[in-house]
Amino acid sequence: MEQHLPKHNCKDFTKKVFLVLDGELPETERKLFIEDITRCKGCLDHYHIEKHFKDFVYNRFDRKACSDQLKADIVNEIKKIDAEEG
Ligand SMILES: [Zn+2]
Repeated sequence: MEQHLPKHNCKDFTKKVFLVLDGELPETERKLFIEDITRCKGCLDHYHIEKHFKDFVYNRFDRKACSDQLKADIVNEIKKIDAEEG
């Protein structure tokens, strides 16, 4: 079954990913963001970053620290997709 979530926008999602990576997304929005990830199968499949990204986000909640490698991996995944989609 296709999910139709009026508030979810896959392009917007990408922008938020960068905000989260930069630590610029407020904590309340970050919680919504995590829910958004789990809701949109398209984004999960598309970005292939579910596990990495969740680890990153949850680690930030916890320790406010993340590995630069993880951040780089996620940014690379997104850049690849952006390139594919023009
Ligand atoms: Zn999406």
